[in-house]
Amino acid sequence: MKYRDTRDPSRQVSFGEAVLRGMDPETGGLYIPLSLPELPRSFLLRNPVPSFRDIAYEVSRPFMEGEIPDEELMAIIADAYPFTAPVTPIDPTTYVLELFHGPTCAFKDFGARFMARMMSWFNRNENEPLHILVATSGDTGSAVGSAFHGVEGIDVTILYPEGKISPLQEKQLCTFDGNVRALKVSGTFDDCQKLVKTAFTDEALRAKLRLSSANSINISRLLPQSFYYIYGSLLVRDRCRYDCKIDDPSLIVTVPSGNFGNLTSGLMARKMGAPIRGFIAATNSNRTIPDWLQTGEYKARPSVSTLSNAMDVGAPSNFERMSAMYSLEEARSVIAGYWTDDAGTMEAIRSCNKRTGYIIDPHGAVAWKAWDDVRNGAMRDLLSGRSNAPGKPGLVGCPETAPEWAKDCSDKTCVGLILETAHPAKFGETVKEAIGRDPSLPERLEKVLTLPDRSSPMSTDYQEFKAWLLANL
Ligand SMILES: *Cc1c(COP(=O)(O)O)cnc(C)c1O
Repeated sequence: MKYRDTRDPSRQVSFGEAVLRGMDPETGGLYIPLSLPELPRSFLLRNPVPSFRDIAYEVSRPFMEGEIPDEELMAIIADAYPFTAPVTPIDPTTYVLELFHGPTCAFKDFGARFMARMMSWFNRNENEPLHILVATSGDTGSAVGSAFHGVEGIDVTILYPEGKISPLQEKQLCTFDGNVRALKVSGTFDDCQKLVKTAFTDEALRAKLRLSSANSINISRLLPQSFYYIYGSLLVRDRCRYDCKIDDPSLIVTVPSGNFGNLTSGLMARKMGAPIRGFIAATNSNRTIPDWLQTGEYKARPSVSTLSNAMDVGAPSNFERMSAMYSLEEARSVIAGYWTDDAGTMEAIRSCNKRTGYIIDPHGAVAWKAWDDVRNGAMRDLLSGRSNAPGKPGLVGCPETAPEWAKDCSDKTCVGLILETAHPAKFGETVKEAIGRDPSLPERLEKVLTLPDRSSPMSTDYQEFKAWLLANL
């Protein structure tokens, strides 16, 4: 499979090049696959539903054909995914796809672990190790650190702003050993990012060390996220028959979104044949994409902080991919836009728990609220012209921009799948404030609290950072 640049379709690279480069350094564009292979009907209709790993293998094969041998790919998938994505019903027509069963308890494990193994594979013939530098304001750092931990030929240095992330997040970053190190920088997230960016442009340093980044724009982080959409939608279709006597559900997947990598992967899965009728793009007050769907104009803006802070993105980098793959009209026909504020998020954690017993984290709560509103009249109101007032949280749009599946919402065959992107214990304080008790801490998070802190202090001075890199890598 070839991959093309979003900005100049004539610039094409192999999978290996796309993985190692991340983005096109000359145009600044991102890579997308030239085409999306359709999954055979025999595979989509297989009974019982194939395992998560079987789906991962079948789906990924064509994307790296001729570059990674089949048995190697199978071994990589087994190593990357000792966990899966369980589907849990929480009410008669709502399922939750739990994406927090990986080592860091967030959905980024799915993408980061696959990417780490792809980079290691394509780096295998190099004598010198690849040094990955990441600046993090929280979750990304631990997913990347954990994903690369113990991976051959690569080491990782994580920079984070000291005192500006949650104590649990800090523990997750500072307790790696071996090939993953953390630097606590006496500054802000922007200072961390500046140190990393300066290192990447420092020719003298690059002559000595092979540097790379592991950010969310890498195509090998997006591809594996399509696995769980296919797995989850097949499972729901299968279960509906028994759970709610619906044979051919109109399945609506609600995605709590920030940078829109997750939703982009969902759009890819749908094109490949996943039985998904439509999506709800659910955001917090950072509503750049819902606004785009509503007005047709894309306006990036500074991010505002919210309770679902992993979604605090004002200029989502994957908009570039979404708009290279879908025109505005096509996007509108598949995706409904929805947003809510912090009050709505708190209310959603509470209502989800009260009505279903399920404890949901602040990110998943945004998705729950979107789905629950849409099925309980928000879409009907929109279709009848009683749409939401501009600037007010809720479902956005008007009858003309409503998705093709809008009418299904009042239909008995409409079923929802909500993506739960983090374990509620990662945001225990917010959850406790909403429901009055602490979510239970999974063992892998509890363990991390007792491990020794191995991080090193760092100032915001580039020369000091450079000297540290040269002495320690
Ligand atoms: C990163 C993240 C998101 C947002 O995902 P995008 O792919 O950036 O849209 C949502 N929830 C959690 C918990 C995350 O860590």
